[in-house]
Amino acid sequence: MTRTAQSPIHPLYAAMTTTVFEAMSGLARTLGAINLGQGFPDGEDPPELIAVAARALTERSNQYPPMAGLAELRSAVCDFYRRRQGLDFADEQVVVTSGATEAIAVCLLGLVSPGDEVIVFQPAYDAYAPMIRRAGGIPVSVMLQAPDWRYRREDIAAAITSRTRLLVLNDPHNPVGKAASEAELAMLAALCVEHDLIAVCDEVWEEVRFDGVVHRSLMAWPGMANRAVKLGSAGKLFGLTGWKTGWLCAPADLAPALARVHQFLTYTTPPALQWAVAAGLALPDAWFAARDAGWSASRDRLKRGLERAGYVVLPNAATWFLCVDLAASGIGLGDAAFAERAIREAGVASIPISALGEGPVPNHIVRFCFTKPDPILDEAVERLAAFRAGLPA
Ligand code: GLN
Repeated sequence: MTRTAQSPIHPLYAAMTTTVFEAMSGLARTLGAINLGQGFPDGEDPPELIAVAARALTERSNQYPPMAGLAELRSAVCDFYRRRQGLDFADEQVVVTSGATEAIAVCLLGLVSPGDEVIVFQPAYDAYAPMIRRAGGIPVSVMLQAPDWRYRREDIAAAITSRTRLLVLNDPHNPVGKAASEAELAMLAALCVEHDLIAVCDEVWEEVRFDGVVHRSLMAWPGMANRAVKLGSAGKLFGLTGWKTGWLCAPADLAPALARVHQFLTYTTPPALQWAVAAGLALPDAWFAARDAGWSASRDRLKRGLERAGYVVLPNAATWFLCVDLAASGIGLGDAAFAERAIREAGVASIPISALGEGPVPNHIVRFCFTKPDPILDEAVERLAAFRAGLPA
């Protein structure tokens, strides 16, 4: 790409469209539609955390916290992962970031050099590929296929070259709601070790799992502790997406260098939110179980409603999202056309999967976010049922 005379903007951004999340949420606001597009819970925010943040704003500090994060939060992240995932990090391995999206940028800017190839599984969260390119790297797509979205060793091995440096693994996976199996994780770890790859493990959905599916980090597999960076998000853990508070946990020799990338992106993250997240991470397991039960009930409610309305819902083990297979539902519309018509005609926003990813990503699947109060889910289902009835087969 070369710079054009017309625009001072880097060609990557000059050619880019606004993210589908922002576009859909903007349209939902304009049209007054129910927003099951962008992933965020809609309901009561956890009062325990709000109270700590509010007190911290009035009674503690509103000045720069330490660059890599408040000591209280770095240590709370370590305690949380020790307790819930059996992982052992030292506080110095944790860098607090302004959301996991910043942590992704930190990893890609810090670990990718010009010409490096980076394996990205498609469909994919839309921030990965542009950031890899801005770092001078080359995203190399490996396609996952519905309905099981399996990580296939032969496909990954075929995509690895002598220039492959990194692999980005989003597990559990947004948008498809899959959690990698132990066999898949073992295979991915073995490939990373064999080809000397670093894994950027975007695990922001680690705590949003259903039906007893246990989260295992790729970082826990043999040989991975020194070659993986694990990313987490308070937005997802506590349903507080606007707080934009996340973190990365890196091998001890990489963490200080990654902190130096962060220092020239956002430098720090608001301290009141960091104190509140530290308090949240210390909540008892029963608190997390109750939160899981609430999300699980919402998932079941939307699934039942969509199925009654004639939509085929794909299996989902994790995340706040359910995917509907339009083709299997007998709906003769592509996902982008469906999403566009559903928001305008039914007043319900969704996310077309083809907007997330590059290459031959399926274009017959739409994603709905279910972390909403029951009356909103019921109203959305009613609207989608009436809309469905009027669609071409
Ligand atoms: N992770 C959120 C989702 O998948 C969106 C994040 C964003 O809007 N940047 O819906």
